[in-house]
Amino acid sequence: MCSRNWEVKVVIVGGGTAGWWTAGCLEHNFPDWDITLIESKDIPIVGVGESTVPQIGNFLSNIGIEDSHWLANSNALKKYGNRKINWRKSGDDNFDWTFWYNYNKKFEGWAQKFRKGEVDLDSLNDFYDPNDWSGYAYHVDAFEMGRMVKDHCKNVKHVYATLTEKPEADLVFDCSGFAARFVEDKTKQHYPHTIIDRAFVGPHEPRDDLPMVTQSIGRDYGWQFIVKLKNRVGVGYVYSSRHVSDEDAYKEFEEMIDEGGFVPMGLPSEANSYNDKHMFFKWEPHALTNPWSGNVVAIGTTAGFIDPLEANALFHIQHGIETFVKCWKRGYGKKTYNKAVRISWNNTVDLMKHHYALSDRDDTEFWRYWDCCREECRQSVWDNYEKRHNLETNLYPSSIWATMAAYFDEWKRAPF
Ligand SMILES: Cc1cc2nc3c(=O)[nH]c(=O)nc-3n(C[C@H](O)[C@H](O)[C@H](O)COP(=O)(O)OP(=O)(O)OC[C@H]3O[C@@H](n4cnc5c(N)ncnc54)[C@H](O)[C@@H]3O)c2cc1C
Repeated sequence: MCSRNWEVKVVIVGGGTAGWWTAGCLEHNFPDWDITLIESKDIPIVGVGESTVPQIGNFLSNIGIEDSHWLANSNALKKYGNRKINWRKSGDDNFDWTFWYNYNKKFEGWAQKFRKGEVDLDSLNDFYDPNDWSGYAYHVDAFEMGRMVKDHCKNVKHVYATLTEKPEADLVFDCSGFAARFVEDKTKQHYPHTIIDRAFVGPHEPRDDLPMVTQSIGRDYGWQFIVKLKNRVGVGYVYSSRHVSDEDAYKEFEEMIDEGGFVPMGLPSEANSYNDKHMFFKWEPHALTNPWSGNVVAIGTTAGFIDPLEANALFHIQHGIETFVKCWKRGYGKKTYNKAVRISWNNTVDLMKHHYALSDRDDTEFWRYWDCCREECRQSVWDNYEKRHNLETNLYPSSIWATMAAYFDEWKRAPF
C-alpha cells in the first residue's frame, strides 16, 4: 500500500448518470483533483424511467445532495417496494416486496414460525420500517439524475465533444455507455443463463392510480416493468431474443400497453427510437473482467449490463465509483478493485437467475428454459440468502433474497 496525495488529472468520458455521478463523487472525495467531463452532443444517453434500491439515496446524500432537495426538484418519486405479478403458474398470487435489512436476525425467527405455518407470507412485510433509511427507494429519471449532480459540481470542467481518441490524463473514467469507447482490456465475463438481452421501452402519460411500487410482470418471453414518475410512466418489455423475434415481442408489448391503458407520450429527441412511441435496446449481457485496466476505469453500462431486474444498474454505478474511492484512499490498486467489482456482478447474476428459475411457470419456451437450473436454484437460494444479505457486501437489502426465497421456494427445504 502507498499513499496517493498528489493532484491527479482526470478525464471522464460520458455525460449520462455514470459520468456525472463519477464526477460528483470524485470532486467530493478529492477536492484537489483536476476533473474534466467530456460528453458528446450526438450520442444519446440512456433514460427509461429507472427503478432503484434504497442505497442510491445514501450515495447522493454522501456527496451533499439530500433527497428532500432532489425529490422536490425532479420528477422522481419514492417507491416502497417491488410487486411481482404473474411470476407463478397460478398467476393469482402477486406479492409485494418491501425493503429491510435483517437487523438482530429477526428474519430467522420469522422463518421458524413460517415453516410451522404460524405466520403467512404477507407478514414478512411487517419487517418494513418506514423510519429506517432502507424503508424506501426511488423511481428516477436518469436524465435528471445526471443533470442534478452536474448542477451540484463546483469545479468540474465540462466540455462537449465526440472523442475518437483516448484523452490525455492520469486517469480516464470511461462512462461512454454500451459503446465502452476507451476500455483498454475488453475481456468480458459472460455468465451462464443470462438470456435477457432486448427491451422495448417508452414514456407514457402520467397516472395517479398506480401504486408506488415497481411492478414487474412476468410475460411470455421475459417481463414487463412499470415505473411511475411525476411526469410520466416508464413502461418496458425486457425479453430473451433467443425465444422471440423483435417483431413478435413488439406486438406483445403493444398488447401490454393497450391492456394497461397506457397512453404513449412520444419520444424526446435524444432517445434510441424504434418508432415515434418507443425505444429499442439490445445488449450482450456481460461484465468486464477487469473494469480498471491501464489508466482507464469503466463505470456504468461501460462496465457491464446484465438485466435490469431488481433495479441493479444505477447501484452498480454507485458501487463502481465508491469502490474506486475506497481503493484509492486505502492505497489498493486494480487487482483489489477488479475483484470487488466482479463479486458485485456475481451477486447480480445469481439474483437474476434465481428469480427466473424459482418460478414454476412452464407455459412458453422461455419459462421452460429454466428447467435447466430450477433444482439447483432451490438448493442454493438459502445459501445465497445467508451469504449475501449482510450490509457490507451485498447490493440488495436482506429482504430481496429473503422474500424471494420464501415466496418462490415454497419452503421446500428447511433453511435453518
Ligand atoms: C431497458 C433498460 C431498462 C433499465 N432499467 C433500469 C432500472 O430500472 N434501474 C436502473 O438502475 N437502471 C436501469 N437501466 C440502466 C440505466 O438506464 C443506465 O445504466 C444508466 O442510465 C447509466 O447509463 P450510462 O451513464 O452508463 O450510459 P449512457 O446513459 O449511455 O451515457 C453515455 C454517455 O457517453 C457519451 N459518449 C459516448 N461515446 C462518446 C464519445 N466517443 N465521446 C464523448 N462522449 C461519448 C454519450 O454522449 C453519453 O453522454 C436500464 C437500462 C435499460 C436499457
